[in-house]
Amino acid sequence: MTVPTLTLNDGNTIPQLGFGVFKIDAEQTERIVTDALEVGYRHIDTAAIYGNEEGVGKAIAASGIPRNELFITTKLWNDDQGTQSAFDAIDRSLEKLGLEQVNLYLIHWPTPKRDRYVESWKALEQIKADGKSASIGVSNFLVEHLDRIQVEADTVPAVNQIELHPYHQRPAETAYGHDHGIVTEAWGPLGQGKYPLLELPEITEVAFAHDRTPAQVVLRWHIQQGHVVFPKSNSRSRIEENFALFDFELTAEEQARISGLERGGRVGGHPNEVN
Ligand code: NAD
Repeated sequence: MTVPTLTLNDGNTIPQLGFGVFKIDAEQTERIVTDALEVGYRHIDTAAIYGNEEGVGKAIAASGIPRNELFITTKLWNDDQGTQSAFDAIDRSLEKLGLEQVNLYLIHWPTPKRDRYVESWKALEQIKADGKSASIGVSNFLVEHLDRIQVEADTVPAVNQIELHPYHQRPAETAYGHDHGIVTEAWGPLGQGKYPLLELPEITEVAFAHDRTPAQVVLRWHIQQGHVVFPKSNSRSRIEENFALFDFELTAEEQARISGLERGGRVGGHPNEVN
């Protein structure tokens, strides 16, 4: 199955579907990422704070997949925001991953109380210039944070990775992305299993109509909304299920029905509160 790619504002391309490794134990990461690579995923989303970059790196090395066929993202943790601390953090991540360059490096949270995200963004601009990350972006940024980057720095982030699922659709951030050429990556695409999203009739009836699972329907909704997604699962059968999204299509009515589920239902922290 061919995963479509989106073109970022710096000309690089990103596979629209990847595999996320948040909360995958360090000891299990190599095995589970190996499963994902065998199934066909070529885009892996990790972060320094997940504590599993080494496992991701081992799976990549053991796979034998050419580096240019893989898209690897990692993230700058909050405690490492700053200039020299960001330079040190990317070097640590690259060493753990066993890579000379990641495809995408993100500021994990704006942490506005620290007020170092503009400085950190300028460090990421240098990290890109040094070739340590092909593209750079942000995560959990609200419009006010994106606006400040726009005014105070030279580069527009390639992506903004935000909590986004049918219960919490982030219209302000996605509209800003459309207007400024920032791709929206949806984390927690299934609501992290914290809502009964997959049991709602709006989802299960569409799943029945297409002979698909509710998770596939929600992930397909994201793809047709233009988001990048990287659902996480430890189980090989769900990893396979979540990859099978490109041989069916939801109708405009089905998309609208799922979009009608907006509840403002955040499952993670508020971007102005996480520090
Ligand atoms: P998710 O919405 O992908 O939910 C994962 C959970 O959904 C799994 O633990 C499992 O319980 C369930 N699930 C997965 N596949 C299923 C299926 N086919 N059927 C039924 N249930 C299924 O949430 P997530 O892992 O938090 O988000 C995905 C990725 O986003 C993460 O792994 C990570 O890479 C990234 N992320 C980023 C941030 C950030 O702050 N930038 C925060 C959280 C997650």
